[in-house]
Amino acid sequence: MIERWVKKKVLITVRTYPTPSRQQIEVSCTAGIDDEGKWIRLFPVPYRFLTPDKRFSKYQYIGTDVTKSISDPRLESYKVNPDTIMILSSPLPTTNNWEARKEKVLPLKAKSLCELQALRNANQFPTLGLVKPKNIMSLEIKSESPDWTESELTSLRQYSMFGSAPHNELEKIPFAFSYTFRCDDPNCHTHKLSCTDWEMGQSYRIWRNRYGDKWEDKFRETYETKMIFDRDTHFYVGTLRGHPDAWIIIGLFYPPK
Ligand SMILES: [Zn+2]
Repeated sequence: MIERWVKKKVLITVRTYPTPSRQQIEVSCTAGIDDEGKWIRLFPVPYRFLTPDKRFSKYQYIGTDVTKSISDPRLESYKVNPDTIMILSSPLPTTNNWEARKEKVLPLKAKSLCELQALRNANQFPTLGLVKPKNIMSLEIKSESPDWTESELTSLRQYSMFGSAPHNELEKIPFAFSYTFRCDDPNCHTHKLSCTDWEMGQSYRIWRNRYGDKWEDKFRETYETKMIFDRDTHFYVGTLRGHPDAWIIIGLFYPPK
């Protein structure tokens, strides 16, 4: 199969905390909306290795050369050439209750996670979506090993092929975060999905340094109490490449209520 590269303009909406990668040292799942208003997953994005002029933020438009991924069967997945990434705009503002962001994101909202799962099970598609939980019950914070495994470390310590390797080795977040919620399907039996949003990983790192052992109070206030009571919280969800029927939360969309 010949790789056909095309230029795409993408509004970035999702960036997950990086994970070690044998081929790319570390990668982050990056997704957004293309110029036809469809979901697109970009892979690999070795975000911390990009030169500063290519380090996009969420809700920025980027231009990049992409080709349909051969190795990843998910229809929304495209291989990106990181050297071609160009930032095309400043982030869409949050003024007027996130009006500019809602205009782009909410038209893609699915009816429910139960429906997304049923559609995917029947058609292998979609593997990305946005859902609004009917109610969020809780955020679970579970301890995990603070250390990378030997093979993860080997990946992280490969010689860098990229121009600007980060100074700091990727930090393992020693906790796993997951939300329990009911979706908007009348027959929903509740879902518990792990959440790999980069913003949450970063918040943990910042608040652990600022508040020490008390980091969890601040974390819960922001990602549990506020997400449930103050924000009109939606979840960006996606399937795992190696486990096509497993869904995780890859980002939060949280305009004020
Ligand atoms: Zn459901």
